[in-house]
Amino acid sequence: MKAAVYFGPQDIRCVSIPDSVIRSDHEMLVKVAATSICGSDLHLYRGALDPIMEKGKSQTGHELVGEVLDTGKAVGRFKRGDRVSMGYSVSCGHCYMCAVGQTAHCETTQKAVYGFGVAFGNLNGTHAETLILPYADSHAIKVPREISDGAALTLSCNLPAAVIANHLADIQPGENVAVVGCGPSGLMVLDIALHRGPGRVAAFDKVPHRLVTAAKKGVATINPDEEGWLENALQLTAGRGFDKVIEMVGYPETLQMCFDLVRCGGTIAALGVFCDNTFNLNLADVFLRDITLHMNGFANVQPYMWESLRMMERGVVNPQEYFSHTFSLSDVDKAFSIFHQKADGAMKMLIRP
Ligand SMILES: [Zn+2]
Ligand SMILES: [Zn+2]
Repeated sequence: MKAAVYFGPQDIRCVSIPDSVIRSDHEMLVKVAATSICGSDLHLYRGALDPIMEKGKSQTGHELVGEVLDTGKAVGRFKRGDRVSMGYSVSCGHCYMCAVGQTAHCETTQKAVYGFGVAFGNLNGTHAETLILPYADSHAIKVPREISDGAALTLSCNLPAAVIANHLADIQPGENVAVVGCGPSGLMVLDIALHRGPGRVAAFDKVPHRLVTAAKKGVATINPDEEGWLENALQLTAGRGFDKVIEMVGYPETLQMCFDLVRCGGTIAALGVFCDNTFNLNLADVFLRDITLHMNGFANVQPYMWESLRMMERGVVNPQEYFSHTFSLSDVDKAFSIFHQKADGAMKMLIRP
């Protein structure tokens, strides 16, 4: 079958690999209908995770909508023909961490993530014609036919992450909100936040076409590459800073922006995927300003997939509108390149085998 494989930095290609085969009773074989590239995949693409990727072997991709082809004997919730998505991380549903809802930290699978190399369970990826879902009963979800393929595949990662960001920020009516990062997940954060009755809302990104999309929602948009951006942003809050700040990027620079934007006693919810080991955190500043910091980029999405589905079914958010390009799996290298460069108005890529 065809699948995308990591060969090195900026070298992810579609090649032929052996067909997926069920080897354990808890596994399920799924035919990929559509997949995509997550912002977190760009860390792989730029080589930040090179040491954990087996060159010429490690597959990529963790976002899925597909059809069940076959199930192992222990799979009870799904049958051949079901339309499904699944959480990007594989959780067993039975261990302590799964029981307390921290499914990304599953003790059985040891934090296994689809398409993220040897360190994260050495699993197959969704950038493929078919794939195996281990412990399928515990982290897959049936998806109604009314939900489009693009919207459905965001159940794996983007949309539940946006839901979690809003839960952690806990926006109260009238509160001023800043969202740092207007990629697909950041835009979904905005969609949900705007339903919580916020006061002033500002969106931050360096990519002009993303700011245009955010501005259409009626929020203030600010490019941090422009001089005076911070003063302009703080002016929206009478110079005090934002009550709630949500980070959806994952760089030390963007986390620092959050500390610059948040008011005394405010909350930062950082859902970006951070790959850097160090951050120059000013502890005295955090203490003296009473800042609450949540970091959940390694998000426990499985418990939030139902809520995400409900939001799509009831029209709170429609992730399909963020898809800008469609590629065939054989052109996955082009999809990565355009998404990485944010070229050609790139937002979210739909990839079909
Ligand atoms: Zn993701
Ligand atoms: Zn578990």
